[in-house]
Amino acid sequence: MSRGTMDECGRPGHVCVDCQFEVFKTECCYWLEKWGLWDWEVDFDEEDLEDAFGCFRANIGGRLARISMSTHDKEARLKSQGHRGLCRTAFHEVFHLILSGFEYQAGRVIDHDDVEELSHVIIRRMENLVFLPDYERRF
Ligand SMILES: [Zn+2]
Ligand SMILES: [Zn+2]
Repeated sequence: MSRGTMDECGRPGHVCVDCQFEVFKTECCYWLEKWGLWDWEVDFDEEDLEDAFGCFRANIGGRLARISMSTHDKEARLKSQGHRGLCRTAFHEVFHLILSGFEYQAGRVIDHDDVEELSHVIIRRMENLVFLPDYERRF
């Protein structure tokens, strides 16, 4: 997972700091398409997030979403999570999009942290049941 030469970038299963964001975006788009989330306008950003690998924000009414990849401690994190971890983060954030309507409505009646905890119970299960076998098949 060291800094790769340019001809390594773009190869399946490869990621380095140079192509990390591209891999992340490609994986997000893969899942957006797979889940059929055509009715959303999604853009991507890089943010210095200390407590998370990624972040999801949405304007539910406007069907607008922004998925961010953390650039915090980039090299060390990439080394520890690898290609699979990065792809898992992309899957994770896209699943927040699926749950965003539920999260928004639930957040009006129960505490936001509790909503997030409930979402993560679902998302972790989906990571294990859907993401991992799909990843193993593709890479
Ligand atoms: Zn690369
Ligand atoms: Zn999350």
